[in-house]
Amino acid sequence: MAIDLVVRNGVVVTPTNTFEGGVAIDDGIIVAVGHDSDLPDAENILDAGGNYIFPGLMDPHVHFRDPGLTYKEDFTTGSTAAAFGGITSVLDMPNVKPITADPEQILLREKLIHEKAYCDFMLVGVVVQDNPDQIIPMAKAGAIGFKIFLGSTIGNIPAPDDGVLVDALGHVAETGLRIGFHAENDQILQHITRQLIAAGRTDARAFVESRPAICEAESIQRMALFAKYTGTKIHIYHLSSKDGLDMIEEHREKGIDITTETGPHYMYLSEEDMDEFGVVMRMNPPVRSKEHGAALWEGVLDGRVNFIADDHSPHTEEEKMKGIWEAISGFVGVETLMQVMWSEGVVKRGMSVNHFVRVCSENGARAWDCYPQKGSLEVGTDGDLTIFDPNQKWQIDRQELHSKGKVTPWHLWEGEGIPVGTIVRGNVAMWDRQFKAEQPFGRLIRPNINQE
Ligand SMILES: [Zn+2]
Repeated sequence: MAIDLVVRNGVVVTPTNTFEGGVAIDDGIIVAVGHDSDLPDAENILDAGGNYIFPGLMDPHVHFRDPGLTYKEDFTTGSTAAAFGGITSVLDMPNVKPITADPEQILLREKLIHEKAYCDFMLVGVVVQDNPDQIIPMAKAGAIGFKIFLGSTIGNIPAPDDGVLVDALGHVAETGLRIGFHAENDQILQHITRQLIAAGRTDARAFVESRPAICEAESIQRMALFAKYTGTKIHIYHLSSKDGLDMIEEHREKGIDITTETGPHYMYLSEEDMDEFGVVMRMNPPVRSKEHGAALWEGVLDGRVNFIADDHSPHTEEEKMKGIWEAISGFVGVETLMQVMWSEGVVKRGMSVNHFVRVCSENGARAWDCYPQKGSLEVGTDGDLTIFDPNQKWQIDRQELHSKGKVTPWHLWEGEGIPVGTIVRGNVAMWDRQFKAEQPFGRLIRPNINQE
């Protein structure tokens, strides 16, 4: 009896291995990985055309805005963009409307997204002043982890006070899951912002000055200390500075379990680009000097930065294109993340193909407790594959993006290497740059930690 799907004639890449062959998937699960001659017969056979076959690539930081903010993005458009970006699973953020702050919202969103998604998804619960008692129930409902916004950001979700924070981290430790922080000291950045506005500054770089690296370093230090006293695993979202990375290292050496992520804009763009792109590049935390970018890139190469995430943040043109102090922060990138990482990281800066797979697939799954179900090509795990043509040349055109939001600093960026196939648990979402999914199939990814 033939199995469902074989992708053959590729170059299979894992973090530790590279060989010619393919992958066989039956009932959504990988049943064989090997040379073409060793793969079973299948009803559907796809020819990878000599391109790379990666474990499904992951974007562990997106804002698909569903429910409540669907004028910016919804899970249909967001996950379609993900499919074209070679992304098989995403971690979606909780600053939707209503915020994801109780188990009912986790369950409701699971159902809602399941009917729209062309990729698998993880949900994090947000922790605010009045909901630490919802942490354990949210874990039981299927949250992959948690998030606290320490700096002012989209959705105006105020951070809990320190007493509640320590309490909350204790509850998170009980679940065994990880909690991540938007790590910016709000008092410092509000203070400097007031000063810059009073001084009449309206240039784009004033925004970078308003949120200096000390904001990031200070909140990491404080959260690491709380983590030490509560025994909690923590994560730092969208790391933007050398100072932040140094602070993480300092606390890792003391035994704290801290993971972190960064995005291509923090490494390959710099504040100098603010002069050209202006408000388009406004992002929290901001893109800083080239020295910070170089330090983060070094961290990605040597493993101190665990994985790559885009922080895909769609907004309308109207929300975005205002003065530097009035404009909203964030831009889109889930669709272009992997091609930019490949072109800038592998082609131009010499990262190995195996390390690309480690930081774009395996390490995100490990940090968020869903490895090897996600982020691997092991037999018995989910049949998620990204087929990648390393040589295809491209130029990004914002009008061709599938997200509702079109504002991106990567518009007109050129490079080479692009995803040409996206397969999620055996479902072909994209093939040969054509959308192939006939119906949504995305599922909630649950942590592999025992939730009693
Ligand atoms: Zn974000």
